[in-house]
Amino acid sequence: MKSIILLSPPAAGKGTQAQLLKEKYNIPHISIGAILRNEVERKTAVGLNIKEDMKKGNLIDDDIIMNLLINRIKQKDCEKGFILDGFPRTLKQAKLYDKFLKENNMELNYVFHLKIDKETARKRIVGRLICSNCQAVYNELLKETKPKASGICDKCNGILVRRKDDNNDVFENRYQLYLIETMPVISYYQNQNKLYEIDSSIDKNYTFKQITKILDIGGDYN
Ligand code: AMP
Repeated sequence: MKSIILLSPPAAGKGTQAQLLKEKYNIPHISIGAILRNEVERKTAVGLNIKEDMKKGNLIDDDIIMNLLINRIKQKDCEKGFILDGFPRTLKQAKLYDKFLKENNMELNYVFHLKIDKETARKRIVGRLICSNCQAVYNELLKETKPKASGICDKCNGILVRRKDDNNDVFENRYQLYLIETMPVISYYQNQNKLYEIDSSIDKNYTFKQITKILDIGGDYN
């Protein structure tokens, strides 16, 4: 049983790395953000409650997060391990998660902090476009991932759309929350000698190589 945590400021590529890790090690990718967005889309009681905070990029209540997370981890496909993308984002979540692991005789194995400077992160967020048809991700501000025709997906000709929370004000709010709420989580894991610092400012392949090098040395994933 292996568990991996990916922590980072917004736009450091947690989602991308989690997908790559899922493919390589065949363990599920748990994105708390995606679970929350799904609640909002389905207009569940939780979804209606969190809708406005999600739009603003505010952090969602720790108890709501813990309930959704624990329900997901208890599913059968998580038995071999899982990748947590965007959790824990507060010290309270980290401590509640430690308690849950202990009560369930589970171990926390790897915590990766994907590092990126603020301006690079801002460009990635503010320019990000997603294909409404095939979910391919582009960036109109970055040469290497700009769509060939403005607003149209290169792969399927679908319409490119912006995520509701991908704008400058929301970015600032999320970045501040990362500094105030998530940096203490990073120190918490550092003090337990569980943290690996990863440079995530170059490209996704370089980031992935650094992560898998660590996992393959210490891991029993095969
Ligand atoms: P993400 O998909 O990771 O970028 O997260 C999108 C949004 O979901 C965040 O801006 C928060 O509003 C919310 N969110 C995701 N993970 C958490 C968490 N661990 N704690 C509180 N809120 C979260």
